[in-house]
Order: sequence, then C-alpha cells, then structure tokens
Amino acid sequence: MTQICGTTQLLGVIGHPIAHTLSPAMHNAAIAHLGLDYVYLPFAIAPERLAVAIAGFEAMGVQGFNVTIPHKQAIMPLLTTVTADARAVGAVNTVCRTADGWLGTNTDVLGFMAPLRERSPVSASETVVILGNGGAARAVVAGCDQLGYRQICVVGRSADKRREFMESWRSVPLTSRLSVHSWDDLPQLLPSATLVVNSTPLGMHPQEDRSPLSRTDLQQLPAGAIVYDLIYTPNPTRLLSEARELGAIALDGLEMLVQQGAAALELWIGQRAPVDVMRRTLKDALGLP
Ligand code: NAP
Repeated sequence: MTQICGTTQLLGVIGHPIAHTLSPAMHNAAIAHLGLDYVYLPFAIAPERLAVAIAGFEAMGVQGFNVTIPHKQAIMPLLTTVTADARAVGAVNTVCRTADGWLGTNTDVLGFMAPLRERSPVSASETVVILGNGGAARAVVAGCDQLGYRQICVVGRSADKRREFMESWRSVPLTSRLSVHSWDDLPQLLPSATLVVNSTPLGMHPQEDRSPLSRTDLQQLPAGAIVYDLIYTPNPTRLLSEARELGAIALDGLEMLVQQGAAALELWIGQRAPVDVMRRTLKDALGLP
C-alpha cells in the first residue's frame, strides 16, 4: 500500500451499503504499482446525506470518486457537467474534479465494450439480445449502440418497466434500432442473435443454480454466437458453462469490472492504468485462478 503522508490525494467510492466493494483493493493495488501519492477509500453515504457529502468532497479536495447504488442517478444534478455517455445511460459511475467543477461520466459503457472490441468488428446486420432491463442493461444498450448493432432487443419481465425503458431512450437517436420484448419472445429473437447479454442476477449468489436461458434456448443461437454474462462471481455461471458446452463463445463480467475501473483511474490520474495488476487483484479477491 502507498505510504500516506501530508500530500496524499483522495479518491474513493460512494454507495450505501459499500462494505462489499472490491474497488478499493483494485485501485489501491494500481496506485501502489504506479508509485502514486493517492489513496482510494470506501465512503458509506446515506441517500439523504448525498448533497452534503459531495460538498464535503469539494471542500476536502477529493480528486475523483466512483458512484454505486443507490447514488448513480441522484448524483447527476449535483455535478457541473455530465458526459453524453452518462446522459444516454441515465447514470453516473465516475466523477472527476475539473477546473470548472465536478464532471460525471459512465465508464461501465467502455467496460462492457472492452472484451467485445477485442473480437472481430460487428457487421452491419447483427442483432443483440439483452436479458433484463435494469441499470446495467442501460450501459449495455449504449455500448451495443456504439459497437454498431443493427437490432438491439431488450427482454424484460414487467410490461410497465419495458414501456418506461423504451420511453427513456426517446431523445437518443438509436431508438429505431431498439425494441423491447417479453421473455415469451425469446424463440423468435435467439435464432438471429450473434450476441446475448445477461444483465439479470439469475446465476449470481444466492441463485447460482439458475440460468436465464435453458439449453433449448441456447441451442437456438446461430453458430459463433457470443454469450456474455455480466455476472463475475461465480465464474463461470451456469449460463456460461452451458453456453460453452453447446459451442458458443462465453464472456464473463470480470473484464467489464476491470475495464470500467481502469477507465475511471485513467481519468483521475491522467496516465495508463496497470490493467493486469487490477485484473490480478480482483481475481485474487474473488478466489479465481
Ligand atoms: P438491476 O438494476 O436490479 O436490474 C436487474 C434486472 O434483472 C431487472 O430488469 C430485473 O427485472 C431483472 N430480473 C431480476 N430477477 C429476475 C428474474 N428472476 N427473472 C427475470 N428477470 C429478472 O441490477 P443491475 O445493476 O442492472 O445488475 C444486473 C446484473 O449485472 C447483476 O448480476 C450485477 O452483478 C451485474 N453487473 C455487473 C457489472 C460488471 O462490471 N461486470 C456491472 C453492473 C452490473 P425487474 O426490474 O422486473 O425486477
């Protein structure tokens, strides 16, 4: 760990609760590796204390911070500038101090895209099916839009939430490529899906034995399809082990977690983040090889 002294600069993560966060381990390992005079701390901030906490950060000279549940939307009116990515997603996960005030962005979009960008470029006719329409699905939609998917199909279980989800993208030009569906529509959607993303908690503790897709669903995917589970523990999830068995390309959520953190750190420190160190630290914390 970095030696804390009189010049040490503060970074951190705000949330409520926050005790489960892996971000301090990941960021402090990167800071130590680079020999920087920073420290990254967890801050448990109750929703009704958010504004006073951010004013305190301003006064204390905090250089930047991550934002997690339940503050990702509530922080937005407290910031001077919000980037287009974060406005499209409707949530901020990273805040930087600038000369003009706080700048909010959303590095989950970059984090989500990173493992897909390493593969061949998306062709003009590709369809993605996104399972779930909660917070993470919004970063996935923005990422798939940037990657060039022609059809972005979002599957949700509540008709009201599907309607609200669709409505919330109305001012964004991608609307003609976005559609919402019930789970009953999967047999029509899966045969043309070159990418399926799980953004539900199905498969995560305490639902490790569950999968959002049955083997029959997985068998409908075209050859070479990618199944991307945003869950990073357990690793692999039931969805990913069955997808792999049936010949699909399986991607887990660990790289998204690493890359969203690396993108945030680079914004704060203005230099390349040691991604390998951050990945290794997270794997160690999660007990992964
Ligand atoms: P969220 O906002 O609570 O959204 C969860 C979505 O899953 C909602 O649409 C919810 O539907 C749906 N859902 C929940 N249980 C379901 C079930 N039994 N059947 C069908 N749909 C169900 O959560 P989130 O923040 O988007 O996170 C979702 C997942 O992504 C979590 O597993 C999280 O760990 C993971 N994640 C990973 C990363 C990463 O860096 N790898 C980042 C963010 C999130 P209703 O709204 O109808 O309840």
